[in-house]
Amino acid sequence: MGSDPDDEESRIVDCPECGTTLDLSLEEAEQGWYTCPECDNVSAIAVLSRCPTCETEVELNKEEVALQRYQCPECGEDVRLQ
Ligand SMILES: [Zn+2]
Ligand SMILES: [Zn+2]
Repeated sequence: MGSDPDDEESRIVDCPECGTTLDLSLEEAEQGWYTCPECDNVSAIAVLSRCPTCETEVELNKEEVALQRYQCPECGEDVRLQ
């Protein structure tokens, strides 16, 4: 257990419902959604990906994260996440 400030072992998000700042575990961050302990609101984590074809930054929803693929809204490219 190190404390390297550059690693991504947690992810800070703000609950859109109640505004509570949450420190998500890597596990929660990877599953693409989280439940707020304050208000029980379930939110998707904004996962950004850059389309390799047109370089548009796309915000993925949790289904897309789960499927590891998305369709670029700009150019229609079917992108697979690595
Ligand atoms: Zn909340
Ligand atoms: Zn694109």
